[in-house]
Order: sequence, then C-alpha cells, then structure tokens
Amino acid sequence: MAPSRRFFVLGNWKMNVNASRIESLSRLLSEVKLDRKTEFVVGCPSCYLSHARSLLPSHVAVAAQNCYKVARGNFSGEVSPAMVQECGAEWIILGHPERRTIFGETDDLIAQKVTHALSAGAKVVACVVERAEDRESQLTEAALARQMQALAPAVTDWSRVVLAFEALWASGTGVLATPSQVQEVLYMLREWLRLNVGSHVAETTRIIYAGSVSAATCQELASLDDLDGFLVGSAALKPDLVSIVNARHPRPSKLFVVIPARPVYRKA
Ligand code: PEP
Repeated sequence: MAPSRRFFVLGNWKMNVNASRIESLSRLLSEVKLDRKTEFVVGCPSCYLSHARSLLPSHVAVAAQNCYKVARGNFSGEVSPAMVQECGAEWIILGHPERRTIFGETDDLIAQKVTHALSAGAKVVACVVERAEDRESQLTEAALARQMQALAPAVTDWSRVVLAFEALWASGTGVLATPSQVQEVLYMLREWLRLNVGSHVAETTRIIYAGSVSAATCQELASLDDLDGFLVGSAALKPDLVSIVNARHPRPSKLFVVIPARPVYRKA
C-alpha cells in the first residue's frame, strides 16, 4: 500500500442491528483503542443513522448503505443522499453485491446513483463484484472491466471514492480467497484505473477488499501491495472489527486477553 493512501475500513452492519445493538456496538467502539491512522466508517441502516452518529466516537464516520439517484420526488421507500447526510452519514455505499443480486440494481443505475451522491457532496464506497461463475470461467477481468466501464464515467471526483472489490464467492461461503488471489484482482483494478482514467487516480484511489475478512485473516491481507483496507460484513458485528481496524498497526486492546504463544511453566 502506498503511504499516501490512508488505510480504510468499512464495517457494514447491513440489516442486522436495532437501536440497542447499535448502543452496545458503539459502546465497544468507544472503549477500545482504534488505530487513528485508519479511516474507519460504519455502514448503518438509514433509519438509525442519527442514532449511530450520536453514539459513535467522533472519529468514526457513518455510511448509509444505499441511496437513490435523485434529490427528491415520488419515490416511496427511497432516500436521497441529502437526506442521509442530514442524518449524519458522510459516506454512502453503492453497488453492494446484495443491491445488485437481490434488488436487481444494474451497472447503469449504480453509476447514476454515484454521480448524484457525489454531486450532493457525499463520499462513496463503490463496490465491484466478482461472482463464483466469473472466476470459474476465467471471466473475472471482463466482469470487472464491464462494471468499471459503467462506474468510471460517473465519477466526477475520485478523491471522494473508495473502490471496494467484493469477492462474492468468498463471502459467507466457507471458501476464503488467498492473499495472492486478492492481490491479483486488486492489481487488475489499479491497472484498469491507470489505463482508463489516469496514473494519478490509479496511485491515489483506495481499493479495499471484501469477502469474509476476519481477525484471523486481516493482518496477512493488510500487507498486500495494492490493498488499502477492508469492507467487512459479518465481522462488523463482532469484536473482530477492532482487530481489522488495527490490522496495519496491531496492538492489544483492553477487551482482549493476550494468550502467550507457548505455555508458561513455573518453577516447582
Ligand atoms: C459483504 O457482504 O459485503 C461482506 C464483505 O460480508 P462478509 O464480510 O461477511 O463476507
């Protein structure tokens, strides 16, 4: 990772929290030591954004998990970037695999949402996805290029975008991506940016990895050349999140007991 790119961790609570769970997770995140060199963001359901913002430490930012592509209108059930910003969200996650696969969001719709979110002043975590079938048919590069071709023209300011590579085949499947598989795709994405957008954007844009990242796997992944952080789902609901935020500069937190690597024998 280049020193100019600040390490970035997004813990996405998805639709797995209520008010009291947010209170306990925020208490945990207030009590532990979080590496301030990491930019740390929590993805929260829209209806709890203000609640989370009021409870989380001020150095932890809040992200909405979606938004619509226009500012206002007759769009029942939707929220605009301006609305989520007013509730405390600085960031918006767009193109998450669950939005794409469950809710049928297309590359084109996601691109329109990105343009509008940026024009409204939000920062965006834009997700691109590799499915199992892409990998099995060696179509990863083509699938990512298709998503990047839709996304890149929509980005008016790359300094407010973090690109998240989502290995869908390694999320909740019990199959983990190896560090070399992750590095290969992150490099592919950075090269795509270099060739199609420009060297400055390729060097400065943070590219993060998503796919069952845990306390056990984050440190090895954090040392990869092209990796600038993580987007985490299930680990965002556990104390694992602290280790992931601190993956580049690990230190014991007061919630963890340090277990010696070898048994300690006492003199009889
Ligand atoms: C996700 O769904 O974006 C995700 C990264 O989840 P998990 O960490 O549980 O794989």
